[in-house]
Amino acid sequence: MDSLRFHAVKKISLNPTHQEGEYAERVTSIFNENVFTLETARNYLSDEAFKSLVTSAKGGKKVDRNMGNQIALGMKAWAESKNVTHYTHWFQPLTGLSAEKHDSFFTLKSDGTAIEEFEGNALIQQEPDASSFPSGGLRATFEARGYTAWDPSSPAFIMETAEGKTLCIPTIFVAYTGESLDTKTPLLKALNALDKSAVDVCQYFDKNISKVNATLGWEQEYFVIDSGIANARPDIQLTGRTLIGHAPAKGQQLDDHYFGAIPERVYAFMRDYEKESYKLGIPLRTRHNEVAPAQFECAPIFEETNLAVDHNTLLMDIMSRVAKKHNLTVLFHEKPFAGVNGSGKHNNWSLSTDTGINLLAPGKTPKTNLMFLTFFVNAIKAVHDYAGLLRASIASAGNEYRLGANEAPPAVMSIFIGKYLTKVLNQIEKRVGDDFDEQDEALLKLDIHKGIPELMLDNTDRNRTSPFAFTGNKFEYRAVGSSANCAIPMTVLNTAMAETLKNFKLEVDALIETGEKKEVAIMQTIQKYIVESKSVLFEGDGYSSNWEKEALKRGLENIKSTPHSLDAFVSEKAEHLFLSNNIFTKTELEARHEIMLESYIKKIQIEARVLGDLVTTIIIPGAIKYQNNLLTNIKLLKETGFPVQAYKAQIEIVEKISEHINIISENVTSMIEARKKANDIDDIRQTAIEYYENVKEKHFRKIRYHADKLELIVDDSFWALPKYRELLFMR
Ligand code: ADP
Ligand code: MG
Repeated sequence: MDSLRFHAVKKISLNPTHQEGEYAERVTSIFNENVFTLETARNYLSDEAFKSLVTSAKGGKKVDRNMGNQIALGMKAWAESKNVTHYTHWFQPLTGLSAEKHDSFFTLKSDGTAIEEFEGNALIQQEPDASSFPSGGLRATFEARGYTAWDPSSPAFIMETAEGKTLCIPTIFVAYTGESLDTKTPLLKALNALDKSAVDVCQYFDKNISKVNATLGWEQEYFVIDSGIANARPDIQLTGRTLIGHAPAKGQQLDDHYFGAIPERVYAFMRDYEKESYKLGIPLRTRHNEVAPAQFECAPIFEETNLAVDHNTLLMDIMSRVAKKHNLTVLFHEKPFAGVNGSGKHNNWSLSTDTGINLLAPGKTPKTNLMFLTFFVNAIKAVHDYAGLLRASIASAGNEYRLGANEAPPAVMSIFIGKYLTKVLNQIEKRVGDDFDEQDEALLKLDIHKGIPELMLDNTDRNRTSPFAFTGNKFEYRAVGSSANCAIPMTVLNTAMAETLKNFKLEVDALIETGEKKEVAIMQTIQKYIVESKSVLFEGDGYSSNWEKEALKRGLENIKSTPHSLDAFVSEKAEHLFLSNNIFTKTELEARHEIMLESYIKKIQIEARVLGDLVTTIIIPGAIKYQNNLLTNIKLLKETGFPVQAYKAQIEIVEKISEHINIISENVTSMIEARKKANDIDDIRQTAIEYYENVKEKHFRKIRYHADKLELIVDDSFWALPKYRELLFMR
């Protein structure tokens, strides 16, 4: 057969896979090679300029123009020593991807002299043409221009591609009127708010703490498949996932991929992208196979959240680019294949002080125990109070296929904390008001630290079903989708935590004012918070249907559709939270809500079109060809004088094919109608809901079901699309 499918399959077997990647040098010899770290900056800057850079990198003062010029000169000298010719502001618009606009150092003076130039102005601020980035009506209402502004807390780096080397300057991206048009601006604000509230609460325990950083260690899951095979699947090319395809005879039921040997070709790809990542200062640490065939994971050492987010965005770019060199395709989609596990991006999150303490690590002394309990219980309360927003922060067309599917965290927000800490919280909850005086000491002498190994044991099998699990010294926010920009969930989580800590301090201070001892006031408030938020704690199997019922009884939300879950962003609660903490204005919230709905609509719209095309122009014609063959065969058998029994099976297949084709056709027609109807609705939220309910839910599964049935009966040589076994097992 002459289809792309068979060319691709043949090419794999002709093209054995050992693409020798170079063996990586020791990581330390290349780590940060392409980053303008403070250490590197020291060699290129005057004392004064260096000091200014350090202060602003640590989130202190803004850089003034004069210093800006000096820093820019130093950066340029460093970049030129590495043969860089261009620079770009690197930012993360609301498309969820990263964006760049390259400018050359080369310029002409007014008298025509050619020089290489990079001034402070070019470093600090730029005006890219913003008109093609999503703005949810912001630009229409305000200004057609936006600008990018340097974020000195994330160091500049050099991106090496086949086209050359570019100096990249991490920036925020805002509209001319000040509204943020990116994911970094609100994140930086949230991290600031968190810093302030957390430091205030830390003062109860340790006056030396003057800065608290939220830390993030993401675990990136992804699929890798052969590019030839991927290119023979229009659905993968256009939507990042398979819209049809029957499960292979062998799937993940043997669990033989997980922690098995990494296939050689993928291994070469990993070494290659790891090397690029190390040069850019991304501290990748682990790599392994995931549960599903062709699925893998990598994770770095955790970092300060803003930097960690930039590194994750960069890594996804690097991986996609490096994969091409290996003739591989990386899929970051949350659910590329039905029936096998989807991909997430677990966000491991904690808080760390400038005195070197992890605030979510249980302490060894009564004092540090109390500090731990304070932050631990505040985190639980934050998730309880803002569960709806957290759910919204991970909502996307892709993640919708994963959440609540049988291997992924459900759409119900709940927290797993393990047996030991459950016991501790129960004990605290049971004490009555004044009891604390006599008993708090006993409680705090509990060696919480020692209880942790037990928790860790629990974890390995049980927390896998929880969307938000405590794992000994951090929370693991598992519901985040693999293609997401972590800035969005991290903005919501850290703002919720900032707000909760702020209120905690108000309550404790009020009790102290009535004459309560500080420790007692803290314990009483912790107790109150446990009572108020314990409904979100759940230790059982989050995948079970019983949990959904139980969650309903507890009054926890379980919103499966993306458009409905996004309502949380424009709720009164969100408005209060984000406005009072200065993270978003009301306009920004509304704009974001609109952008997310728009993106959802577009994705489902594209999927619907591609699905319609696939079945109409590839699947049905293939099935008809086979049906014709069968009919010829039947005719010949009949003419030769064979009795009906001789072609009974053929007739049955012919009939079945017609049946499936009819159902598919009817549904494609009605899906198109549903799309038209959805497009005609003026209200964008209602359009999105219509796409969810009537385009997607009503049609996708049904069309797929019958197409997949055809796959099981149609002659393999008439089947033009690579099958799951080829996608998942051939490389
Ligand atoms: P596990 O594999 O059990 O989930 P790991 O220790 O391997 O746990 O950690 C997974 C991720 O969590 C890594 O990216 C790691 O850097 C990150 N991590 C560990 N400690 C913290 C922390 N205090 N804050 C944020 N992330 C952390
Ligand atoms: Mg983990």
